[in-house]
Amino acid sequence: MQYFNSDVISICNNTTYSECAASVSSRYPVRVSKYYASLIRQDGDAIWKQCMPDIRELEDDIQCPDPLEESSLSPVPGLIHRYPDRVVLLVSNLCPVYCRFCMRKRHVGSGDSPMGEAELKRALEYIAANRAIHDVILSGGDPLMLDDASLELVLSSLKAINHVSIIRIGTRVPVTLPERITPRLCTLLKRFHPLYINTHFNHPDEITGDSKRACGMLADGGMQLGNQTVLLKGVNDDADIMRRLMTGLLGIRVKPYYLHQMDLVRGTAHFRTSVRAGLEIVRGLRGHISGLAVPHYVIDLPGGKGKVAVLPDDVEREGDMLLLRTYTGERVEYRDLVDAT
Ligand SMILES: *Cc1c(COP(=O)(O)O)cnc(C)c1O
Ligand code: SF4
Repeated sequence: MQYFNSDVISICNNTTYSECAASVSSRYPVRVSKYYASLIRQDGDAIWKQCMPDIRELEDDIQCPDPLEESSLSPVPGLIHRYPDRVVLLVSNLCPVYCRFCMRKRHVGSGDSPMGEAELKRALEYIAANRAIHDVILSGGDPLMLDDASLELVLSSLKAINHVSIIRIGTRVPVTLPERITPRLCTLLKRFHPLYINTHFNHPDEITGDSKRACGMLADGGMQLGNQTVLLKGVNDDADIMRRLMTGLLGIRVKPYYLHQMDLVRGTAHFRTSVRAGLEIVRGLRGHISGLAVPHYVIDLPGGKGKVAVLPDDVEREGDMLLLRTYTGERVEYRDLVDAT
């Protein structure tokens, strides 16, 4: 399979920063699309932090490269089968931007070659032989970094398997390389409905005319658009930023789906916030903005045990009486009549 060609900028040629960038990039690849680099307003801003290498990536040596044990849940190369009815297919390991906090830091950019046709064939055989699999999630890297012909091959092969009823694509392309979303691509994707696309916006500054146009084209093509945000220290760990992000997404036809607690992946510790802080941010969303804009806050448990949704603790029980905390902080009693009988 082949990749789509895109512009990349080189960032390692700036003076004081270059030594750090070079040493980090020898371990974790660095790549920034021209478009995404153009969103940086100043060094250290929310866009900069997400894409520019930081020496702290090398200092974090305690955490594990693959805490979710994706490798051990991989019955054939490039396929992760954790839940009975759905699998993740890693079709690409290239992205327009290598996010410094990536949970697949061990995988992305390594060798830059997409899944080969032999590997794809084995993965398809595995899916075809497992009738319990109804939902296939294309991930990577970024699946939309494949060229149109390769994408078409993957999608049509999946579509040909009767028990696969939905296909999902996890992609950051609308955020980092919106020019990849072309009328031609949308015409291709439309043939594979029901197709769900989960994109990955982390900050309101990523919502631009270009990303709005990209999402609009996909939505016009009938694609259901969701969003997965990663909670990142110094980037979006703030209720006001999160409210602007989530409501801004609704405005570009994207429904917030998950807010992820950072995985314990080596090289990313400087982005981690506490779950307590995350819960406070979620508390700042529910009731304060459109319910449609509130994502599920999830922790993906180490050891491949799956995602668990967590909620702020707003229920206290005394017998059949519930004491509920409202979005304004008021405590209100509510009698649980069914339980009382
Ligand atoms: C997140 C994930 C899924 C999809 O989970 P949903 O809750 O259905 O979105 C499937 N497989 C793996 C390995 C995952 O990490
Ligand atoms: S786009 Fe996704 S897979 Fe690629 S580096 Fe960023 S977080 Fe990782």
